[in-house]
Amino acid sequence: MKTDIIVVGAGPAGVVAARSAADLGARTTLITRDEFGGMAANDGPVPVRTLAHAARLMREARQLGEYGIVVGQPVLEYPRLLARVAKVANDVRTHSLRREYLESLGVTIYERAGTAHFVDPHTIEATGGLRLQADKIILCGGGTSRGLPVPGFELTATHSDAWGLTSVPPSMLVVGGGATGVQVASIFNAFGSQVQLFQAGQRILPTEDEDVSAAVAAAFRESGMVVREGFGRIESFEKTRSGVRMNFSKDGKRDGVEAEIAVAAVGWIADTEGLNLATAGVEVNARGFVCVDSYLRTSARHIFAAGDITGRLMLVPQATQDGLVAATNAVLGTITTLGEQVSPIGSFTEPEYAQVGLTEVKAREKHEVVIAVMRFDETARTIIDGRTNGFCKLIANRKSGAILGCHVVGERAVEIVQVVAIAIAAGMQVDQLARVPLSFPTYAGILVRAAYRAAEQIHPNVSRQAHRE
Ligand SMILES: Cc1cc2nc3c(=O)[nH]c(=O)nc-3n(C[C@H](O)[C@H](O)[C@H](O)COP(=O)(O)OP(=O)(O)OC[C@H]3O[C@@H](n4cnc5c(N)ncnc54)[C@H](O)[C@@H]3O)c2cc1C
Repeated sequence: MKTDIIVVGAGPAGVVAARSAADLGARTTLITRDEFGGMAANDGPVPVRTLAHAARLMREARQLGEYGIVVGQPVLEYPRLLARVAKVANDVRTHSLRREYLESLGVTIYERAGTAHFVDPHTIEATGGLRLQADKIILCGGGTSRGLPVPGFELTATHSDAWGLTSVPPSMLVVGGGATGVQVASIFNAFGSQVQLFQAGQRILPTEDEDVSAAVAAAFRESGMVVREGFGRIESFEKTRSGVRMNFSKDGKRDGVEAEIAVAAVGWIADTEGLNLATAGVEVNARGFVCVDSYLRTSARHIFAAGDITGRLMLVPQATQDGLVAATNAVLGTITTLGEQVSPIGSFTEPEYAQVGLTEVKAREKHEVVIAVMRFDETARTIIDGRTNGFCKLIANRKSGAILGCHVVGERAVEIVQVVAIAIAAGMQVDQLARVPLSFPTYAGILVRAAYRAAEQIHPNVSRQAHRE
């Protein structure tokens, strides 16, 4: 079948690319190996966030007694939770991704079509038998979890295996303390697994502000999780009677740890294996991600790429922005680029953590800075809700007052930094943020206090504002 544009992969990047291409008048075909919605809707943030919400509900149920509400201890029925996860994923696919709208624009959708691969630079064939040709192609195949070349690695699980469990495992080893690893560890810790989190580097969440890594690790330990940073080098995994053993060594000393299940979260790579990119002349970089220019055009000029497959910031909002840019350029010619992006990042662990902009260390490398920290035990809303663990760190340029970064650990951290992302995008200075009368008592309100503290350091004689908290 001949079409103007083929989009490969129906995750957030592919869905937006197909919608944008069709909106701009292109005859568009969207082909995907699995279900519509991609990893995001079916295997990543949507289902994992649903598990995280269940963990939050259990935590809140345990807090009821503090507010005089008497109920029994919460008990998790894992199969019922998985049924809820499936329903949520289905609802997101149906309502949030607006599949009907795509179809109303004339996009032809081939779902569960098998893995697509290039037969020649303009022709794609899927393992399900479909053959398509197009003038332009947009690759939105996303990523997949990375393996390690150690004996027995096949005995480890990934976050996706959570969907196949019939009950919560009594013990779990999580290898990798990045965003996915800490999320899995935090959720199953809340569900009652005895979790051990092993991180090869010196701190978990290595791309977060150092204070955030330290606070999350401390909170994890306090909740009963074992956290081992700088544990050494993995030598092998082997089967035990009740699960898996990881053998590792450090400074010549061998050691081992066992659990019923070992989850490896040691990185994310591009899902390009089946695509046969060489046939189309599409180059990949040393890490295996598809190389693109600022128009998201690959080394083959009629082929574009968007989302995780390009290996930049691997998040849903970036994937959707990519999809729009790639489709616009594919249909109209290279007229638009991504430009500067403010990219808030966070995770729904217990405690939540989030960041936007520069970490303190990065900010100090380039700027003279002021740092303002507000602890969660100093604001009304967190005290009201009994959620006093955490802090908000605001980083600003001492000369201009410009907001450079914000890091939050604690309840609603992810929501709080969204406000700062808008402030940064709008070019606000800390004294301007300090004068926005945000509602009382709210979690976001902590930002006004932090901004005020930062502004005081920049202008020590600034007339004192009246603050409600
Ligand atoms: C556990 C976890 C939690 C996450 N949490 C968050 C979060 O909280 N917030 C956030 O913003 N991001 C989160 N992410 C990242 C987010 O899911 C990705 O950035 C996003 O899904 C990328 O979108 P995409 O469209 O590029 O690819 P995907 O969503 O991966 O979709 C790609 C689709 O293409 C299909 N495909 C691949 N190759 C082929 C082929 N050759 N032929 C046909 N089809 C193919 C795949 O089957 C898949 O369906 C999380 C990821 C994980 C793993």
